[in-house]
Amino acid sequence: MSFHKNFFDESDLDRLEITSTELPQRSPPSGINILIVGAGPAGLFAALECWRKGHDVHVIERTPKPTTAGDHFTVAPQIARHINTRWPGLAQQNDAIAEDPWVSYHKITGELIKGPAPLSWKNDDDDDPLLPRRLYRHHRAKFLRMLMLAVRRAGIEITYGRRVVDYYEDGARQVGGVHLNDVGGSSGGGEITTTMEADLVIAADGVGTKLHGAVNGHDIRAESSGYSLLAPYPELEHYMRPLDNGHPHMHIWVGPEISIYFGSYSDVASWAMMHKADETAGESWGAQVPVEKVLEFVDTAIPGRLLPVMIKDLIRSTPDDGIVDWKLMLRDPQPRTASAAGRVVQVGDSAHTFLPSSGDGANQAMEDAISLASCLHVGGRSNIEWAVKVHNKLRFERVACAQMVGFLRFKQTMYPSSSDETSPSPSTTTKPPIDLRTRMCRWQWSHDPEQYAYDRYGAALRHLQTGAAFKNTNIPRGYEYKPWTFGEVLALVTQGKFLELDGDWS
Ligand SMILES: Cc1cc2nc3c(=O)[nH]c(=O)nc-3n(C[C@H](O)[C@H](O)[C@H](O)COP(=O)(O)OP(=O)(O)OC[C@H]3O[C@@H](n4cnc5c(N)ncnc54)[C@H](O)[C@@H]3O)c2cc1C
Repeated sequence: MSFHKNFFDESDLDRLEITSTELPQRSPPSGINILIVGAGPAGLFAALECWRKGHDVHVIERTPKPTTAGDHFTVAPQIARHINTRWPGLAQQNDAIAEDPWVSYHKITGELIKGPAPLSWKNDDDDDPLLPRRLYRHHRAKFLRMLMLAVRRAGIEITYGRRVVDYYEDGARQVGGVHLNDVGGSSGGGEITTTMEADLVIAADGVGTKLHGAVNGHDIRAESSGYSLLAPYPELEHYMRPLDNGHPHMHIWVGPEISIYFGSYSDVASWAMMHKADETAGESWGAQVPVEKVLEFVDTAIPGRLLPVMIKDLIRSTPDDGIVDWKLMLRDPQPRTASAAGRVVQVGDSAHTFLPSSGDGANQAMEDAISLASCLHVGGRSNIEWAVKVHNKLRFERVACAQMVGFLRFKQTMYPSSSDETSPSPSTTTKPPIDLRTRMCRWQWSHDPEQYAYDRYGAALRHLQTGAAFKNTNIPRGYEYKPWTFGEVLALVTQGKFLELDGDWS
């Protein structure tokens, strides 16, 4: 069995009925042509949003064909709502391919902490029309296929097998550009073979982005977080039963220093284990670990060797070439995601890193896409530089706050304390939000990145051009952003300490 269940390949994509994806109305042509590097969630969503706003788009991707790699992710309510309202033709497909699991939390030694129960949403009003009614848990491959079909239907070209080796911009000629190395192309090797230019280049090339040189004048590599992720697909038939109420069932076993996730869905099951990294972990899906080694590891990592039987079954059921150890990379929040003349800009993991326990990397990638396309719509072709800078201004603090929430979730699953387990209500706003494992924050799920861009574009532009006061309102109310680093936060979290944060993060 291959490591990742093959949900589709290129020929499958050709066979699919693409007319089933009804497209929304497109804004009149903006005259802006955009080159997008990377066909992950960020690149594909950026392609669709830019198309909808009347920009011309071409996507290039280094893999020779559409990729099926990756695990499940949760599509957040603000993105699901965006799809429902702005892409009604996709909404039905999105509902059909998403699962709505309930979750059980256990101590790593097996005792149930809570569940099975649905994730809950911080809310003050049950009649709130924005209040999410379900969870959207997606298999990455199926979600990407849905986006790819819409991309095709829109007539957006994706060229596979094109690897960017670096980015540049020419402010005088008002273009961004990339140097490419054709994967398997006639020239082969590592030499630069081609350049491509556009009014704007969007780097959606993931955590290993080649863009930092063009943005910051030097490379800012993502560093190892010190943690890594073991992630296979066991397809354990007998654990793939839904709950009696029909909902799929996710299990999470929490720390110390290890957390294990198992999700059983309608047609696939997956497990993943986050743990302290060792030197065997690779930086991409590649460093295979034998099943016996993983069993040995969990036996010694789990206190008193009280490993729940179910976890052992999951690991044992995995083919010997089926487990990879994936080093998790972090880059401190970067206030600047665009080049000086605004002709190359980063979105998604290229712009910001998230640990998987955050459950937010893909969502922030798609928020980026929506915000950028909308800012370009407001600015128009003669103001690309300012539109990109406004987008940067509207996004940076919000993303940094989302990264911080990711760390609070990381703490609760890797370094849980007794208060994490009992989940009291927060009595003071200076404490972090309690039980983020099971509760989604209102400031996150109630956001509308498109409306926000239209509402705040003018004020942000005045701020950038004249220094007029500007305050983002898409972050926790009452919080003043202060720069922080992953190193500082990790040090606190690994000591089991809470972070003192101003404002209402719930
Ligand atoms: C186990 C796990 C669980 C997760 N759970 C969640 C979740 O619940 N919710 C959530 O929101 N997020 C989740 N995430 C995070 C989410 O998967 C990522 O944040 C998301 O995939 C980022 O999308 P992206 O398009 O920016 O980058 P990527 O998905 O990395 O895509 C980048 C694309 O660019 C291409 N590329 C790279 N370099 C080049 C180049 N030089 N030239 C051309 N093309 C290139 C790559 O081949 C790839 O197709 C999870 C991640 C993991 C690992």
